[in-house]
Amino acid sequence: MQTKFIFVTGGVMSGLGKGVMTSSIAKLLQLSNQKVSCVKIDPYLNYDAGTMNPIAHGEVFVTEDGGECDMDIGNYERFLNQNIPKTHNITTAQIYSTVIEAERRGEYLGACVQIIPHVTDEIKRRIRKIAEDEKLDILVVECGGTVGDIESLPFLEALRQLRLEEGSQNVIFVHVTLTPSLDVVGEQKTKPTQHSVQELRRIGIQPDIIAARCSSPLHESTKKKISMFTNVTTRDVFSCHDVESIFMVPQILYDQGIVDTIFTKFGKFGLVNTSANWDKWNSIVNSLQTAQGNVKIAMVGKYVTLTDSYVSVNHALKHAGAKIGKVVSIDWIDSETINGNVDDLSKYDGVIVPGGFGSRGAEGIIKTANYTREKNIPYFGICFGFQLAAVAFGRHVCDFKDANSTELDQNTTNPIVDLLPEQKTVSNMGGSLRLGAHEILVKGNTLAHKTYNSDKVIRRHRHRYEINKKYIDIFEKNGMVFSAESDNAKRMEMLEIPSHKFYFGVQFHPEFNSRPGYPEEAFEAFISAASK
Ligand code: GLN
Repeated sequence: MQTKFIFVTGGVMSGLGKGVMTSSIAKLLQLSNQKVSCVKIDPYLNYDAGTMNPIAHGEVFVTEDGGECDMDIGNYERFLNQNIPKTHNITTAQIYSTVIEAERRGEYLGACVQIIPHVTDEIKRRIRKIAEDEKLDILVVECGGTVGDIESLPFLEALRQLRLEEGSQNVIFVHVTLTPSLDVVGEQKTKPTQHSVQELRRIGIQPDIIAARCSSPLHESTKKKISMFTNVTTRDVFSCHDVESIFMVPQILYDQGIVDTIFTKFGKFGLVNTSANWDKWNSIVNSLQTAQGNVKIAMVGKYVTLTDSYVSVNHALKHAGAKIGKVVSIDWIDSETINGNVDDLSKYDGVIVPGGFGSRGAEGIIKTANYTREKNIPYFGICFGFQLAAVAFGRHVCDFKDANSTELDQNTTNPIVDLLPEQKTVSNMGGSLRLGAHEILVKGNTLAHKTYNSDKVIRRHRHRYEINKKYIDIFEKNGMVFSAESDNAKRMEMLEIPSHKFYFGVQFHPEFNSRPGYPEEAFEAFISAASK
């Protein structure tokens, strides 16, 4: 079986929505009954996204198999409703490490090890391996960065070679560019597109499809002009204009005939009727659009200056709202600004505290956790938000005045949250947290059990610290229940306060399992409690 490849490149500038284009194309092919997946190439020298600041790069998306990946992997999972393994996020560091290790083992003995062919071979090997191992009909590969960047050159060169080796009937290049409109008259400027395609052709890649980002639909005359300068037929120039929701992008591309274009280029014919797939997808997209009534949620976190830092949490809240027919409006509040003004939280139907690392802004989170508990405001804490809810309870209910997490105060006499024992000897920061999916056992007759309706769930993790078991008895005597655990009861996974309207915390990251049409259970429980 021959896997077909679609390579998505980007021009002009970053942030054009290449990830959404990649996901949308893959979605359309999936709706057409093709076995598809996506790969993200990140041409940076970090081994993975785990050590990067979320305020600069957006969220670190954790895969089922414990990869700390670029946030685009989350888009792929949400669009396709399928898990993406960590091998699908390829970075420069991974490629070079493999090549250098092979060189040290002596695998290239006698040869001068070079970018071409050794680095490009390793890039191609990884892409082909994914296609073969997963027996894919079509693999869509997004090359991060912008054409012209020095860093992306080896990757683009490898993709160019792949086209030569696999044949043009098996490889399509899609180039995503920008077509800005400068004035109210709305003339759509094609020069940036012309230049970025020139740049691409200079390195030997002729795009088959142009996807032009624009604020309003591309005029026919603009398409013609782009076609002429880029050597792509007008029919294969697609308008990617602004729409209300990213999940509407597959439809606008489909309406312009992109599926036919791709299938014709690949020589695939005889499509089966896929209307049932479309009905299901449309009802999901509509449910996200047509909700009514408002649930006001405050998200109190450390990285709110870039809402992409919590992109999966934002989506998960919307999925949950759609399920109960409500619009979730989110105010992002910097936990560092929470102080004497914690009362402002009273105007919200619910408060969510997502993950975080380090002491900056932590006291604001502890205040938030305490205030919502006292005022009976629905509270949902994820990871850091779970740990600091326990700290707040220790300080204000159990009367341990200096209760803390040792992540924030190493000298506290009441380490309610402490380093995982196996972390004590860890010295490398990269890839060394407790990561990925782990099995969690849920206790009967708890909010946790009611929420998951199961004795067992599997969820993704990313943490170094955990609840100190020494404090469990005293917490339970004071009204906080630890309602789920993992690793033979070694660690606590969920907490709740039964006397409260909704006070729930989870050590894991439920946001990574939420998908449009299939909200993660804890988010659904939180939003439905907040909407009452
Ligand atoms: N900083 C905490 C830990 O390492 C919480 C991590 C998180 O919120 N993802 O355990």
